[in-house]
Amino acid sequence: MRRMTGKALAEAIRNDVTQRSGALLERGVTPCLAMVRVGDRQDCIAYENSLLGCCEKAGIAARGIALQKESGQNACEAVINALNGDESVHGILLLRPLPEGFDEDRIARLLDPKKDVDGMTPDNLSAIFLNRGLAFAPCTAEAVIRLLKFEKVELEGKEAAVIGRSLVVGKPLAMMLLKENATVTVCHTRTRNLAQVCQRADILIAAAGQKHLVDGSFVKDGAVLVDVGIHPVGDSITGDIQPSAYEKAGAYTPVPGGIGSVTSWLLMEHVIHAALRAEGLL
Ligand code: NAD
Repeated sequence: MRRMTGKALAEAIRNDVTQRSGALLERGVTPCLAMVRVGDRQDCIAYENSLLGCCEKAGIAARGIALQKESGQNACEAVINALNGDESVHGILLLRPLPEGFDEDRIARLLDPKKDVDGMTPDNLSAIFLNRGLAFAPCTAEAVIRLLKFEKVELEGKEAAVIGRSLVVGKPLAMMLLKENATVTVCHTRTRNLAQVCQRADILIAAAGQKHLVDGSFVKDGAVLVDVGIHPVGDSITGDIQPSAYEKAGAYTPVPGGIGSVTSWLLMEHVIHAALRAEGLL
């Protein structure tokens, strides 16, 4: 079975992003990403730190805004409003999930779609559902499509199953697979006979957030497996798919080293696109 790491694609995106940010810098524009975190969830801090590393490599200025969860919804909305109006900021990332009691939907509606580099606003999400170009898709959903295409996995006419129906991954990804002419089944917690449903899939994408949910019984011989899940194990991470399930697959994305690495660089790409658009260059 073929191991589809995200390394080569992430590098290709990195080269393109670095070149474009250099060109922007020459015009006197510093592309800038603002990251807003509420609370101190370890997974959010880890993602933020890894994005800081990408920003540094890409020549993108990073601005981290950390709020205590006690500061409340109004403080978070005030920060988003201020960043919306700040011309030096091109992309805004709200680290999710927010602490309990916060209304993510209200913040999504407040965020300027032109700066919404992780595709959470109604404008950007609906553009994906309506097949309109130029929208920012949620980076993880886009990373799955981009890696499958990069690896030349044919999607047209194929049976694809997505486990998970969140607005961050599952739902937008299902729409993006439809756009590629796959036949898509979306599975969720109420899906009956999950393993049997997944067994029909030529391409099985696990985005359930359940460690090692998928075992060999879910996998059709020769299927392509894509693992979106992230679960800490000691100093490393594992995914939603048990490594033993790879044996039946034709190809698979590992965790770590699969979708996650592409996701971070796509976010950088979105920041550059936002900066280029703000300058009227895209
Ligand atoms: P979520 O909790 O919002 O959604 C999970 C979805 O999976 C839900 O729709 C739920 O119905 C479904 N689900 C949960 N358990 C299930 C089960 N036992 N059977 C069938 N369906 C089930 O999670 P999310 O934000 O969509 O993230 C999913 C996973 O992807 C998490 O592990 C998260 O850490 C990871 N993630 C990875 C990246 C990346 O860059 N690789 C980015 C975002 C999220």
